Amino acid sequence: AKSQGRNTYGFYTEDLTRYASQRLDLETRLRRALAQAEFVVFYQPVLSVADGRLLGAEALVRWQPAGEAMISPAEFIPIAEETGLILPLGEWVLREACRQAQAWISAGLAFGSMAVNLSAAQFKRQDVGAMLREVLEETGLPAGRLELEITESNLMDQGERAAAMLDRLKELGLRLAIDDFGTGYSSLAYLKRFAIDKLKIDRSFVKDLADDRNDLAIAAAVVAMARALEISVQAEGVETASQLALLATLGCGAYQGYLCSPPVPAAEFEARFLRHR
Ligand code: C2E
Ligand code: CA
Ligand code: CA
Ligand code: CA
Repeated sequence: AKSQGRNTYGFYTEDLTRYASQRLDLETRLRRALAQAEFVVFYQPVLSVADGRLLGAEALVRWQPAGEAMISPAEFIPIAEETGLILPLGEWVLREACRQAQAWISAGLAFGSMAVNLSAAQFKRQDVGAMLREVLEETGLPAGRLELEITESNLMDQGERAAAMLDRLKELGLRLAIDDFGTGYSSLAYLKRFAIDKLKIDRSFVKDLADDRNDLAIAAAVVAMARALEISVQAEGVETASQLALLATLGCGAYQGYLCSPPVPAAEFEARFLRHR
């Protein structure tokens, strides 16, 4: 039994070592990728449920290593968050997305607002307000055209401080959205204290909207609650016309999803979705 135990232990450390070195490798590669500008921002259209009008876009980062396949954020954002690299990366995405939005607006194109994801590490930083102000100033994007997405779980982690942190961000004049809404456990009373402009219904509730009565009930409740609190609602992950029709019936204001388009490069977004005013 003893030798077996040692053996198991041996395997375990070997796995851990391999795991750790893969991580280290990825971290090194991420650092280099930032320096060598291997990240790209894609844009997914956000549309009005009622009439299909373009409301703006969500900025979503991709990693394009030279000569390799594109790497999805699901693979590197968690590591960027653990290593703190999310701070320079997140700031880069924000600056790039704001620069792009302002370029479209000043070219006279009918672009609404730009949504950018703010990670927990960014949100918690004392100087996040100063960073945001600087980026808005540098890019010239009016604060009212920027929407920051903060996940529900990120907000809940901040406990009592969350409301004050959101208030500080709101003072900049931008809009705030709660991302992945419904996956955490925020209470109604809590929500009311938050200076929130939008709830984004998580894709997991939208997926089976047409077949699952519970998901339909949840989506209906979120829309009704948001309306009562005068918060707008956006559904994510809308893939079918029947999902969209149900969202229209519920009174959901906006949506994004493959039904219209996946996230696409800036040039494609411009060609497909932007028109002169
Ligand atoms: P998220 O913020 O919830 O973004 C929505 C994700 O759903 C995106 O995945 C988008 O491509 C995908 N999506 C949109 N419509 C559909 C649909 O109809 N069907 C399906 N199956 N998927 C759809 P993506 O771009 O792979 O990003 C994954 C996550 O990575 C994001 O989830 C976000 O949490 C994170 N992320 C991406 N870019 C950034 C960033 O710049 N900063 C931070 N902090 N996180 C980011
Ligand atoms: Ca998001
Ligand atoms: Ca989301
Ligand atoms: Ca999500």
